[in-house]
Amino acid sequence: MNSARVAGVSKKFGSVTALHNLDLQIGQGEFVALLGPSGCGKTTLLRLLAGFESPTSGEIWINHERVADADGRKPPEERRIGMVFQSFALWPHLNVYENVAFPLRHQKQVPDAYKKDPRARVAQMLEMVGLGGMEERFPSQLSGGQKQRVALARAIVFNPTLLLMDEPLSSLDAELRMQMRKEIQYIHRELGTSIVYVTHDQSEALGMADKIVVMKDGRVEQAGTPQEIYYAPESLFVAKFVGRSNFLKGSWSNPHTFLLDKVGGQTQPIPVSRDYASFHAHRVLPVRPDQLKLKAWHQGSDGVVGKVTHVQFQGRELLYSIQVGEEEWEVVSDVNERFSYDEQVLVEVHV
Ligand code: ATP
Repeated sequence: MNSARVAGVSKKFGSVTALHNLDLQIGQGEFVALLGPSGCGKTTLLRLLAGFESPTSGEIWINHERVADADGRKPPEERRIGMVFQSFALWPHLNVYENVAFPLRHQKQVPDAYKKDPRARVAQMLEMVGLGGMEERFPSQLSGGQKQRVALARAIVFNPTLLLMDEPLSSLDAELRMQMRKEIQYIHRELGTSIVYVTHDQSEALGMADKIVVMKDGRVEQAGTPQEIYYAPESLFVAKFVGRSNFLKGSWSNPHTFLLDKVGGQTQPIPVSRDYASFHAHRVLPVRPDQLKLKAWHQGSDGVVGKVTHVQFQGRELLYSIQVGEEEWEVVSDVNERFSYDEQVLVEVHV
């Protein structure tokens, strides 16, 4: 079951086409992250879902109801949508209680129980975001993280069908961001609300979402689980934009064999387990640093030979730079397998 659907939506602003005939399904309870470079249309898509804009063509459906097409749109307060922005957008003259209770008065379709006893509902939400008992504080008396928690409580207080979040953590410091990630995931688990989460930050998308939608120039480049996006990128753009990748140069003798360009005088066949059709024309094989494995080299060893040019200790892992022919590859490996600077190694490719 879908809680929202974007069907063939285009959005133009004068001569700029921000979205091109875009399709997107948001399943019931699904956490969808929109990821893409600046200007790719993420915020425009979110604003269309929210009801701040109408599509130039196509339709938007929320909870099996068509809420927008080229002829008109339902306003945001009638869509049962909660929103959280980067800037918090709290009312400075209202205290925490009044900020959080606001949607209970202004949204349509608020459950009666919440309207009858808003104090109890607000207290429950504040408890959930870790701000129990802070009703009387004003936004100016709160830290950045606390303000964002109030914004979160306000977005979920009326039990929305869909929660839209636009870079909600980008104005917080690194430590707080990690903590808020956990809290957003906790809230998602507790409430089961569908979430559309716009971010620039790929680790946020990979770490939190059920589905990642990678956008480019107003189009969906690829949609899939974090694992699919990371280990099975379908385009050069996705392989470059999400996570780090080595691009091994060579040619394709058949869909299951990549022939690595000559290193040390020999072409090396590399067996591959999935379809890389969109990479054939580029003559590259995308390989994540954790898909390369280093082995000790001995005189007469067979395989791809490289030389360690850098080693960085990173806690549980070691990050190696390996010179292979003219190329430098990045390899992530377990701390238990140690190789030294300048050492010859064998590099295995596992894709
Ligand atoms: P960022 O990550 O920088 O916020 P984004 O992916 O959210 O970018 P959008 O804000 O959706 O991108 O913008 C998509 C395109 O539409 C851009 O080229 C932008 O300049 C254009 N655009 C967005 N809103 C308007 C507007 N109101 N008027 C004219 N052009 C607009």
